[in-house]
Amino acid sequence: MKTQIVRDITEDAIERAGQIIKEGGLVAFPTETVYGLGGDAFNPGSSKKIYAAKGRPSDNPLIVHIAYKKDLYEIAEDIPDLAFKLMDSFCPGPLTLILKKKPSLPKETTGGLGTVAVRMPSDPTANAFIKASGGFVAAPSANISGRPSPTDVRYVIEDLDGRVDMILDGGSSPIGLESTIVDLTEDRPVILRPGFITAEMLCSVAGPVSSDPGSTGEDTNAPPKAPGMKYRHYAPKGDLTVVYGTPEKVIEYININTARCSARGLKTGVIAGKMTADRYNADSVKNLGDRDDPAEISSSLYRVLREFDDEGTDVIYSESFEGPGLYCAVMNRLLKAAGRKTVNAGE
Ligand code: AMP
Ligand code: MG
Repeated sequence: MKTQIVRDITEDAIERAGQIIKEGGLVAFPTETVYGLGGDAFNPGSSKKIYAAKGRPSDNPLIVHIAYKKDLYEIAEDIPDLAFKLMDSFCPGPLTLILKKKPSLPKETTGGLGTVAVRMPSDPTANAFIKASGGFVAAPSANISGRPSPTDVRYVIEDLDGRVDMILDGGSSPIGLESTIVDLTEDRPVILRPGFITAEMLCSVAGPVSSDPGSTGEDTNAPPKAPGMKYRHYAPKGDLTVVYGTPEKVIEYININTARCSARGLKTGVIAGKMTADRYNADSVKNLGDRDDPAEISSSLYRVLREFDDEGTDVIYSESFEGPGLYCAVMNRLLKAAGRKTVNAGE
């Protein structure tokens, strides 16, 4: 398949993208979180094409992207008041709500589940594209399954050129991590995937909010409520370990281990904060940014994981980035990327 790559996002380009969706085709588009791979949410054939293009297991449901809050009624039923309260506070924005699905929405889009995931992106291109597409765009992240979500158009092209009809170039994604997913089908809201909208922010609107340990990865034995969270995700090709401990111990541990690996002929990499990045002697040291600025850290994580792939790095050690709020989302992705492989270098 020949993929059109559209660099100049004109009204005409958006119309053409919308037409592709209406005709059952696929378009990758920018959002404020990561790029999405969109198809018509009401066309089962489109959803099947999305799974095929990504190599994604078909039991892993897609998020339906809408442009108007009222469109919730077209895809969900028994919608609790809290859904509108959360949408009024955080949408358009990086929040996905799980609601009871309307029977008219194809089961192919929801991975056979009786619930649907809904999100209203704030990115203006995404918003215009959803409207031009008829209002309901099913979209997972625009990467090959298992790879880090794409935070720049060049990674979308790397993964999906030749597999989709069109790619809309929106530069790089400002947030760089996927949306926060909140399940509203239980008595109390449950976070299935942490993200830019933090637990603290949700609590301020919704009251007590819990988190699903099976989905977030804190409990590796519990079945996740977000089916996608059971798959290995965000993984670089190299072997990644997250190192806990005081800064000096972490630096010492990582330098000893990268030196050992280098002596065995392996290509080594380190993920560090800005203040400590120049203390490492690995082949490739990636500075995620100021560790006091979690938005900077989160927006560079996936880019860095992909850069290690491009460089053919065999062994990667990462500092840990623990903290409240957005740090939880960063650690959730980093630990998943590492297959939860951690060491403690000491206090
Ligand atoms: P992605 O867009 O690639 O981040 O994938 C969408 C994520 O949303 C996956 O982790 C899915 O498992 C999750 N998801 C989508 N629909 C549902 C649903 N109805 N219930 C629970 N999780 C969902
Ligand atoms: Mg994904």
